[in-house]
Amino acid sequence: MKPVLLVTGGSRGIGAATALLAAEAGYAVAVNYSRSSLAADEVVRQIRAAGGQAMAAQADVARESDVLAMFERIDARLGRLDALVNNAGIVDQARRVDQMELDRLRRMFDTNILGSFLCAREAVRRMSPRHGGHGGAIVNLSSAAARIGSPGQYVDYAASKGAIDTFTLGLAREVAAEGIRVNAVRPGIIDTEIHASGGQPDRARELAPQVPMRRAGSAQEVARTIVWLLSPEASYTTGALIDVSGGR
Ligand code: NAP
Repeated sequence: MKPVLLVTGGSRGIGAATALLAAEAGYAVAVNYSRSSLAADEVVRQIRAAGGQAMAAQADVARESDVLAMFERIDARLGRLDALVNNAGIVDQARRVDQMELDRLRRMFDTNILGSFLCAREAVRRMSPRHGGHGGAIVNLSSAAARIGSPGQYVDYAASKGAIDTFTLGLAREVAAEGIRVNAVRPGIIDTEIHASGGQPDRARELAPQVPMRRAGSAQEVARTIVWLLSPEASYTTGALIDVSGGR
């Protein structure tokens, strides 16, 4: 039986790269998405074409009913969850805090913070021996923004990732004795579609000269760290916040 992994936001960018690499490493992968079913289906197709096992799993991670239904579908199709990558996340248009509407703040915090909490809660309910589970591993996607604060761009996004760092530290210690490891990866400037979704399609290229390594990172470079953290190779690593940011 293959270990079962859920990657939220697995249809594009870092999530898609993680789903593909983890499938290669032997996981049966649930590829979550909220809207882009074609993109999720393409990731599933690529995994199956390479001889792996995968399913697409629609759910808006900010909606509890969606999350509950998605976990039940994964239980039924792939079996008990062994690993979770809390990757689904959003940015928004560049704004100062004094210009941020409440709706924007709610969407940001609901998706990036509540979505990660809800998925981690359902994962622990399957992994913890308290609930009949056998342990597991969780990787949360934070950001270098948690350290930098993203002034004039999206302080709300940076603050949501600061919450993810603290969530990672707390949950890691809460479940460490139950065989569940919880870590976070903090990417820097990574070349994905997230920048276009915030109205800055050229952001990765424009900011590259400010990165100590003088280039943006790729989704695959982040995925390698995530898949390592999930693996037994990282068996004594928990509560770690790992920068994958070219020195930024
Ligand atoms: P991306 O290319 O924009 O992909 C985002 C993924 O999340 C898509 O699969 C999207 O699917 C999904 N998603 C968005 N909202 C969702 C929701 N409410 N429910 C379920 N899925 C949802 O993003 P990325 O650049 O790969 O970023 C992935 C993670 O890394 C994020 O948490 C991001 O904050 C973090 N990160 C990225 C960078 C960077 O420079 N790229 C840097 C630091 C941290 P749909 O299109 O179907 O909604």
